[in-house]
Amino acid sequence: MRILISEIENHNKQYYLLDSPLVSDATYDLLMDELIKLERETGVIFPNSPTQKVGAEIAEKLVRHEHRSRLYSLDKVRTFQEISAWDQRNRLSLKKLGYKGQLSYVVELKFDGLTINLSYDDGILVQAATRGNGIYGEGILSQIQTIKSIPRQIPYRGFIEVQGEGLMPLSSLEKYNRDYDDQLKNARNAAAGALRNLDPNETAKRNLVVYFYQINFIEGNSFNTHEEMLQFIENQGLPSFGYKKFVETIEDVVSEIENIKEMRKSLDVLTDGVVIKINEYEARHLLGYTNRFPRWATAFKFAAEELVTAIDEVVWQVGRTGKLTPIAIVQPVEFDGVTVTRATLNNADDIKRKRLTIGAEVFIRRSNDVIPEILGAVDDENIGETIETPTKCPSCKTKLINNGVNLFCPNTLSCVPQLTYRLVHFASRNAMDIEGLSEKTATRLVEDLNVHQVGDIYSLSYDDWGKIPGFKEKRINNMINALENSKKPSLNRFIYALGIGEVGEKTSLDLANAFGSFNKIQDATVEQLLEVEDIGPITANNLVDAFRDEHILNGLEILASYGIVPMVQETKQSSSSLSGKTVVLTGTLESMSRSEAKEALQAIGATVTNSVSKKTDLVIAGSDAGSKLEKAIDLGIMVRDEVYLKELLKTEVYNGLQ
Ligand code: NAD
Repeated sequence: MRILISEIENHNKQYYLLDSPLVSDATYDLLMDELIKLERETGVIFPNSPTQKVGAEIAEKLVRHEHRSRLYSLDKVRTFQEISAWDQRNRLSLKKLGYKGQLSYVVELKFDGLTINLSYDDGILVQAATRGNGIYGEGILSQIQTIKSIPRQIPYRGFIEVQGEGLMPLSSLEKYNRDYDDQLKNARNAAAGALRNLDPNETAKRNLVVYFYQINFIEGNSFNTHEEMLQFIENQGLPSFGYKKFVETIEDVVSEIENIKEMRKSLDVLTDGVVIKINEYEARHLLGYTNRFPRWATAFKFAAEELVTAIDEVVWQVGRTGKLTPIAIVQPVEFDGVTVTRATLNNADDIKRKRLTIGAEVFIRRSNDVIPEILGAVDDENIGETIETPTKCPSCKTKLINNGVNLFCPNTLSCVPQLTYRLVHFASRNAMDIEGLSEKTATRLVEDLNVHQVGDIYSLSYDDWGKIPGFKEKRINNMINALENSKKPSLNRFIYALGIGEVGEKTSLDLANAFGSFNKIQDATVEQLLEVEDIGPITANNLVDAFRDEHILNGLEILASYGIVPMVQETKQSSSSLSGKTVVLTGTLESMSRSEAKEALQAIGATVTNSVSKKTDLVIAGSDAGSKLEKAIDLGIMVRDEVYLKELLKTEVYNGLQ
């Protein structure tokens, strides 16, 4: 028991005084539970036992504030049976004490932040304090004054102390970690660290919020119920959280907890449970307090979402778009019955900023259903084995490229983890336009038909296609025809189909217009590529890297061997009557699809947009044109029909598409 006490005291100091815990709350709770169990079994309670007091002593760096009324911790329950037992105990005690009144409950969220206790005198905010040891807290008025939602003045004139929870919203934590080098591992410690910081500027940077839930002391007023008290808090303009539920029975409390389990997932603040309180003050007064907590309230704690584990290894996973994500393989930890062995690390920079190493003890957090995330090392100074950043794709060994944030495998033609996605993109309408090649079909091609290369789809026989579920005669013939018809793509479509990083439809068209042939694009230097308007250094380098890469070159050769050769395109940027003009297409066109018309218009230098505005120069209206046509007429914009469009395209200097 002495060993446990000293260990818990050490954790209390780390958590309450230094805002930097060394173990997860779940581990801390296990130590406390063990001590409580031993105290029960032996009947011995040491005078310095942490089970007999609240929090920890207060920091010397901050001024001491004596609370007008003591602040307490909360008793905990973990199962519905324990809630029921808590209720039975209270009912029995109240009966013995002769309580005849009503008994109802309020269910609130248990916020996981730092308790704050504000003092208002004659309507003016005169002090703010932490909970400290419940009797004395630490004065943090100047820090609290950085929180905009806290009123400096309230209408009530009597002396009052009101308790709430200071929290750092998860969105603020994310933003802070993006904006500053100093990485915050957890919203609870970030809030506590900010409020107990001697520099209020640091508190201000963290954008804290506060929700009030309790008046511990009030001069000249009293309440009959918690409901009345919360109403009073709201009337004073003190922020309280929107959710609180008043129910009549303990069964309703239980079903409310089920609702909260779902609802809390979408909240922007940390909650670690639900607080169940008796609503009636008369019953509360009769039940009273232990050394640590009120008997009239209890906390139902949710299963831990944050635990401590160690990194065994880091593997780099290639995603469908070629992006590499580092995944930490960790010592198995159990979250609410689910064993977790993998956690995401986002990117190489994230590993560096969080100062992670192999073997390091880390805080790991499970949020919703996604793969857990590593928040940071327990001990930042831990020097373990460095986590190496790869230079080659772990799947196909292609040299990786770095877009400044993430690593990418540029091998879009034969890197297996990317293949399904790449095939779908290659076949998509604005690329090679191979109708019928859905994601489902692409998955079967890769998994069952051994397609290793984008080009392999041109090698598949009638019988091969027949092996794919749902492919009967008509569909197979359609597919074979679609593949055949795709063999002479326009240059811009072919470039777009390759799926090179940052090379979208517009860039592909710009490249085709500027260089005219695929060979010229392939041979272009970074400098030559940069001469094309709108092409920046990242895109230029991506193109050069891709066309120097042996896997891509091999993939292109395979495509060529099946006769897939892009057409040569007239390079002269047209000085057509539409160059630089903004055109909107609306209604149904008879002789071509909208995307064909769009492509043709872009090729003669027009910009094609979706909505009609004052900036629109021309609207081409097909049959059944609706609101866009009306708007164009209203704005006095030139409107022409499909016949005009066809004539225009014929006469303009543009040969590539004809
Ligand atoms: P607690 O945080 O479990 O519960 C009491 C607190 O809940 C109150 O003081 C109040 O601040 C807060 N609260 C939030 N919403 C509330 C609401 N609606 N109504 C009333 N109160 C509300 O208890 P505690 O004594 O503050 O801290 C003990 C807990 O702190 C442990 O169970 C553990 O989770 C954590 N802890 C962790 C370490 C560590 O090393 N990891 C060390 C010490 C404590």
